[in-house]
Amino acid sequence: MTEYTHHTAFGGRLVIIGFGSIGQGVLPLILRHIDMPVDRIVIITADDNGRAVAEQHGVAFRVEPVTRENYEDLVGKELTKGDFLLNLSVDVSSIALAELARDKGALYLDTCIEPWVGGYTDTSLPPSLRSNYALREEFLAKRRPGKKDPTAVITHGANPGLVSHFVKQALLNIAADTGVKTAVPADRAGWSNLAKTLGVKVIHIAERDTQVSATPKKVDEFVNTWSIDGFVSEGSQPTELGWGTHERHWPFNASRHAFGSDAAIFLNRPGASTRVRTWTPTEGHFHGFLITHSEAISIADYYTVTEEQGTARSVTYRPTVHYAYHPCDAAVMSVHELAGKNWVQQKTQRLMVDEVISGIDELGVLLAGHAKNAYWYGSQLSIEEARKLCPHNNATSLQVTVAVLGGMVWAMENPEAGIVEPDELDFKRVLDVCMPYLGPVVGVYSDWTPLLNRGELFAEDVDHDDPWQFKNVLVV
Ligand code: NAD
Repeated sequence: MTEYTHHTAFGGRLVIIGFGSIGQGVLPLILRHIDMPVDRIVIITADDNGRAVAEQHGVAFRVEPVTRENYEDLVGKELTKGDFLLNLSVDVSSIALAELARDKGALYLDTCIEPWVGGYTDTSLPPSLRSNYALREEFLAKRRPGKKDPTAVITHGANPGLVSHFVKQALLNIAADTGVKTAVPADRAGWSNLAKTLGVKVIHIAERDTQVSATPKKVDEFVNTWSIDGFVSEGSQPTELGWGTHERHWPFNASRHAFGSDAAIFLNRPGASTRVRTWTPTEGHFHGFLITHSEAISIADYYTVTEEQGTARSVTYRPTVHYAYHPCDAAVMSVHELAGKNWVQQKTQRLMVDEVISGIDELGVLLAGHAKNAYWYGSQLSIEEARKLCPHNNATSLQVTVAVLGGMVWAMENPEAGIVEPDELDFKRVLDVCMPYLGPVVGVYSDWTPLLNRGELFAEDVDHDDPWQFKNVLVV
């Protein structure tokens, strides 16, 4: 029998809300790497999905949907000081659950800031208030500086989550390869100044999922390698991106938010209808969807440099940051169909886990504009390797679930940190936990730019002076 390293021991109870693709995939990792009795774990979810997996591992499983009306009682009675609330559900407010955990003295982790059901598409709200920017501002406003609140790690899956740690490793690698001498920065100011010194203009979260099934997508069916409901919800939100200081062309349909950090802007159109040019090592260049994600905002905010200018502080550096996602081919067809129906979701859905026959999820960060042009750093996990490494996972979910484990370990080791985003965790500790499950993790330089081969077939309106303008990246 394989002996697994216990990264930490946990004496409290673990309450897991939601048990879909991520919940089922993370359970074996928790049981392997966190030293705790299985009878201290309970799953509360909305349907029977995953019951067999829970039973196989001897974990209590209850179908009791969490609602705005019942959560304080239903979830609250499960929690006392020193417990852990792991939120892996959709349609349950992350902010409500995190506050509940804090009030009970329990640790908390989620992989996405979810609103209550319908929040992403509530047309009584203007687009700015249906954004991840607004959800993040609302969450961060719950911080209580100076108080030793229980740790709540927010948005810590693969992306958002793991990619924030990839960015830090990538910055150190670029510094070493371009002769910029630096110690590992100790704080946010150190990291943002390093990114500025290196001249990083853009950071794409560049992902190409090539996993396929032998069963083609049917008409009126949405197929994906992770939550269909989750993907449809976020794809229907307005396009959002961290807005860099090098940008000189304001995008059509773009707006600033009238509140908060001002690190990001939004376009008045759904992310799943907005395409951008990007690059990963195996795929080369491709079009990805600019789906809104909180890492686009948190990374842009974290790497912002401000300086005193007269009586005020001004922003002197910020990279443009956004997701560029090519989901599995069946999901691209599904998005095309969804958009054609004006974002009314298909009648059926199919999550591909056991039926995947081949493919990889190539997920990393592309840092560009520096002395060596562009550098991609990330994981190239195949379905075959994912299956060998851990049951109940495909390549996509394992990148997420091991990051959940990494965030949980960090929270248990740092239990009084209050609300923290991935950028604020110890990246080395989290990467140590994650690396054995990520397949090949590579860093590759490229001379690719979004201007490559442009203007040969059609005369396009591009900015030749700076390839890394968002104007050149956006597909119009
Ligand atoms: P899924 O659709 O496979 O599963 C969702 C689970 O939530 C199901 O078990 C469902 O029963 C449960 N649920 C729904 N409504 C509920 C309610 N009212 N009360 C309790 N449980 C409820 O989703 P998934 O792929 O497992 O994703 C879960 C979450 O993780 C989503 O928020 C998704 O956006 C997020 N996610 C993040 C990343 C990342 O990298 N950060 C990646 C994948 C998924």
